[in-house]
Amino acid sequence: MKAIMEITMDKKLNEIIKESPILKQVAEGTEVFWTNPKIQRFDSVKDSLPVGMEDIKDAEARLQRFAPLIMKLFPETKKRNGIIESDLVEIPNMWDSLVRDAGSNFGRLFLKMDSDLDVAGSVKARGGIYEVLKHTEELAIENGLPNGEFPREFFSKYKIQVGSTGNLGMSIGIMSAALGYQAIVHMSCDAKQWKKDYLRAHGVTVIEYEGDYGEAVAQGRAESDADPMSYFVDDENSKDLFMGYAVAALRLKGQLEEKGVVVDEDHPLIVYIPCGVGGAPGGIAFGLKEVYGDNVYVYFVEPTEAPCMLVGLATGLHNEVSVQDIGLSGQTHADGLAVSRPSGFVGKVMEPLLSGEMTVVDSKLYDYLRMLRDTEGIFIEPSSCAGFQGPVALLNAADKCRANAEKDSCPPDVMNDTTRIKEKLPGATHIVWATGGRLVPQDVRDEFYNTYLR
Ligand SMILES: *Cc1c(COP(=O)(O)O)cnc(C)c1O
Repeated sequence: MKAIMEITMDKKLNEIIKESPILKQVAEGTEVFWTNPKIQRFDSVKDSLPVGMEDIKDAEARLQRFAPLIMKLFPETKKRNGIIESDLVEIPNMWDSLVRDAGSNFGRLFLKMDSDLDVAGSVKARGGIYEVLKHTEELAIENGLPNGEFPREFFSKYKIQVGSTGNLGMSIGIMSAALGYQAIVHMSCDAKQWKKDYLRAHGVTVIEYEGDYGEAVAQGRAESDADPMSYFVDDENSKDLFMGYAVAALRLKGQLEEKGVVVDEDHPLIVYIPCGVGGAPGGIAFGLKEVYGDNVYVYFVEPTEAPCMLVGLATGLHNEVSVQDIGLSGQTHADGLAVSRPSGFVGKVMEPLLSGEMTVVDSKLYDYLRMLRDTEGIFIEPSSCAGFQGPVALLNAADKCRANAEKDSCPPDVMNDTTRIKEKLPGATHIVWATGGRLVPQDVRDEFYNTYLR
C-alpha cells in the first residue's frame, strides 16, 4: 500500500514540476525568486485564519505577567523590565555595499536584531520561551499553586522535551532548566558542538542523532508521548510557538513609530526572514499582516538545498512533500534552516499572506556575514545572513522586469508583484530579520569569517 502511495506521489510531483519552470530550477539547486500567486488582500482572508489579533494580545499579556519572574531568573533582562526584545538598527553602510546607490533610490535598510535576544541569542527566544511559560502557567493553575509562585521543586517532577537543529533546543532547554524542569533536547546531526556543550553546562540533557531534524523530532515526540510527566514542544505544529513569535510584530510597530518611520500605502514595509520549518518566520509574518495589512510585504529566504517551505507552497503539497522528494539533499551550512519538510500548519496560514520567497546558495551566507561585520561591525550567524538575499533578489527581479525586452523571462506573477512594489521603492523600509548569533563563541565566529565556499 505504502509503495503504491509513493508512486502516485512521485507521479503527481513530477507533473507539478513539469508545469512549473520555477520548481524545475528549485529542483536543480538554482537560486530563485518566487512570488506567491496565491496571495490575497489581507481583509479578505483575515477572518478565515485559524488565529487572530486577540491571540497575539493574549500572548503579549502572558509575557507581561511573567516579566518579573524572567527578570529574577535572567538578570540581563532587567534593562527591558523582563521583556525579551531586540533592537531595530539602520545599517546604511551595509545597504551601500549590498546594492550600489541604494539609499536614494530604494528606501532604507534596517536590521531587526533578534540575533542578540536575551537568554537564547536567537529568534527562538520568542516562541520557545513563550511556549515554556504558557505550559508552566497551565501546570501551576491545574495544580493550584499560589498566584505568581513557581517553585523549582514542583517543576522538577516534570520533563520538557524538544527536537531541534540547535537554536530551538537552546531556547527551550535553557528556559526549562532555569524553571527547574528536567529538560531534554533531541539534537539533529546539523547541531553545532558548542550548542550541545552550552546546553549540558546549563543542566540540559542532550540526546544526539545521526539523522536530520525530522528524525530528532520524531524520536523526541515518541519518548515524550510515552511519559505522562513529559511535555513535548512540537515545532512542526505548535500554535503556542507561533503566537510567541507573532508578538514581535506589536513590538516592531512601537519601534518603527519611535523612529518616525511611516508605513502606509506609499511607504511599504518589506521584511525578509530566514525560514526553516516555518514557525518563527510564519509567526512574525502573521503578526505583521495583522498590524500592517497590505502595506507589509513579507518574504522568506531559504537555502537552495533545503527550501522546504517554498516547495510546500509552490506545489501546494505543504508537509506532504520534502526537499528530498524533488531531489535535493536538505544539507546546508545554514544549520538553523536545515529542515526538509515544512510545518503544514504554518504553510497553510502563509498561503494567502506571503509575498514570496528567495533562495540562496551557502557560499553567499559567508559573503554577507563578512560584509555585515566589515561595514557595520555586527556579527550574526550564517543561517541568519540568508535574509540579505532578500533585498538583493527583490531589486534584481524588479530591475529585470523593468526592461521590456526581458519580459519573456519575467513570469506574469513576478511582473505584477514586483512592479507594484517597484514604484514605491524610494519610500520603502526594508527590514532584514537577523535570527541568531549572540551566543556563538569567538573562535567559531572567526572560523565563519574565514570560510569561503565555491
Ligand atoms: C530556527 C531558525 C530560523 C527559522 O525558524 P523556523 O521556525 O525553523 O522556520 C532562522 N534562523 C535561525 C538562526 C534559526 O535558528
